[in-house]
Amino acid sequence: MSRDAEISANLELVRSKIAAVASHPVTLIAVTKTFPASDAQILKELGVEDFGENRDAEGLEKSQIVAGRWHFQGQIQSNKLKSITSWASVIHSLDDPRHFEMIEKLAPHPLSIFLQVSLDGAHHRGGAGVEQLYRLAEKLSNSPTHTLAGLMSVPPVGMDPDQAYSQLAVIRTEFLHRFPKATSLSAGMSGDYEKAISHGATHVRVGSSILGSRSPHR
Ligand SMILES: *Cc1c(COP(=O)(O)O)cnc(C)c1O
Repeated sequence: MSRDAEISANLELVRSKIAAVASHPVTLIAVTKTFPASDAQILKELGVEDFGENRDAEGLEKSQIVAGRWHFQGQIQSNKLKSITSWASVIHSLDDPRHFEMIEKLAPHPLSIFLQVSLDGAHHRGGAGVEQLYRLAEKLSNSPTHTLAGLMSVPPVGMDPDQAYSQLAVIRTEFLHRFPKATSLSAGMSGDYEKAISHGATHVRVGSSILGSRSPHR
């Protein structure tokens, strides 16, 4: 099978599974990390507008080749923020107020920003605890430039995704009382996006189900 046909078949399957469970609009972000720009180009021709990357250098390179809405979803490093904010229009992984202060100084255009929530309190996969989350949201919602889109999370290793996403849904409901405009929820990856959608995800970040397995594992 050609790469085009393979990606097309995978994408159709993911789209149909999303359509089968979603009772609200869901944005599919194709996670192209470790895959070449040519794959992103194939996706673009299949109607994909949203692309996700974890690393600055890869996002910078591919976004110059393939036009679209590029999302940064990796761990933020301060020294990369100037570059990240040059190519990304959405950031999913803000968990530190100092990074937001830098974004306000460095970003050349308005960004839509998700706050990453830690569900295990240990922050192994990034994310703010609830107290930090509200502090950050307060800062962001007062920004004249950038938009607080909502919350994002990655289930802790070993935690049942259903349990993780129902915990996230509770945090989100509470959060919406205070920040009613932050209605987006970025949750769900290849193994669990249907579950995430049933718990309210509006943005799913799907890589391997569309592009195949990555090696080395990242
Ligand atoms: C890699 C990654 C994804 C996509 O993972 P798949 O299992 O390939 O779908 C989604 N979100 C984050 C934060 C990631 O690092």
